[in-house]
Amino acid sequence: EAKSAGRSRHCFYETGMQERVLERVQLETDLRQALDNDELLLHFQPQWDAQQKMVGAEALLRWQHPERGMVSPAAFIPLAEETRLILPIGEWVLRSACQWLSHWCKHGQMQGFVMSVNVSAVQFSQENFVGQVQSILQQFKVPAGALQLELTESMLAHDQQDIISKMSALKALGVLISLDDFGTGYSSLSYLHRLPIDQLKIDQSFVANIEHGEKNASLAESIISLGHNLGMEVIAEGVETKAQFDWLAAQECDLFQGFGLAKPMPMTDLLRQYQDVQTS
Ligand code: C2E
Ligand code: MG
Ligand code: MG
Ligand code: MG
Repeated sequence: EAKSAGRSRHCFYETGMQERVLERVQLETDLRQALDNDELLLHFQPQWDAQQKMVGAEALLRWQHPERGMVSPAAFIPLAEETRLILPIGEWVLRSACQWLSHWCKHGQMQGFVMSVNVSAVQFSQENFVGQVQSILQQFKVPAGALQLELTESMLAHDQQDIISKMSALKALGVLISLDDFGTGYSSLSYLHRLPIDQLKIDQSFVANIEHGEKNASLAESIISLGHNLGMEVIAEGVETKAQFDWLAAQECDLFQGFGLAKPMPMTDLLRQYQDVQTS
């Protein structure tokens, strides 16, 4: 009696697992075709200074699946990394972002505008990564200083010598480097000091409740002064309310990004907002 109940539970569990495996295989099959089928696109989330001038944008990947609709990057980036599909996908992201930048440059619309692009650890660890960035910049005739690469703090745990030499080579090109999700990893301060990083991006988990929370408030405050002491620009992500913006601005946070200012949007909308702001 007990044994058969146990066995049927076991079967039930197996079926659930099988479904998850099939689901994953299906998603992987679809993802392999996503690039060829033109299902990937970029949305852009504006970044603002304390005077609420738009100074840049972060490119965020979107997958418009024919049946599933918009698939969130949180659902497919990890899979893309495991399968190394992130290599062609990441190159496509860099190319598309630079294509937009070159379009802006030609029309003389972007004085000092910086486009941030997320780079996965798998991508960054490719031997020819710096060469890839350089050739894309050349191909689209984009000034290197208009491109900022967002690396995550967790990546810094890998081969330190390799990271330092690649970051230095990128800096030599003139590309900017931002450290995304800062505060969630475990980078040592002495190591951070040795890296040519231009910007620290305070993780959104520290921005939440900042206007009431004691703990988040003091953490965010420390990150801002740490960044400034190291000569870095500091940006807060996930700014949802006016109170959060005001609090961060009072702590001399340099830049702001979040739903409270603007959500990620298609390029046409970003261009319209940028022009409206510049001419108003
Ligand atoms: P991230 O780089 O930390 O990007 C910020 C995420 O926070 C974005 O989610 C953005 O839409 C969301 N966000 C922005 N403002 C707010 C806010 O005020 N409140 C809340 N709750 N969320 C906000 P998204 O677009 O879903 O991207 C999730 C993650 O996927 C990104 O986190 C990044 O790690 C990854 N990702 C996105 N695009 C790419 C890409 O092209 N390449 C790689 N390697 N990863 C990417
Ligand atoms: Mg990012
Ligand atoms: Mg982030
Ligand atoms: Mg994040």
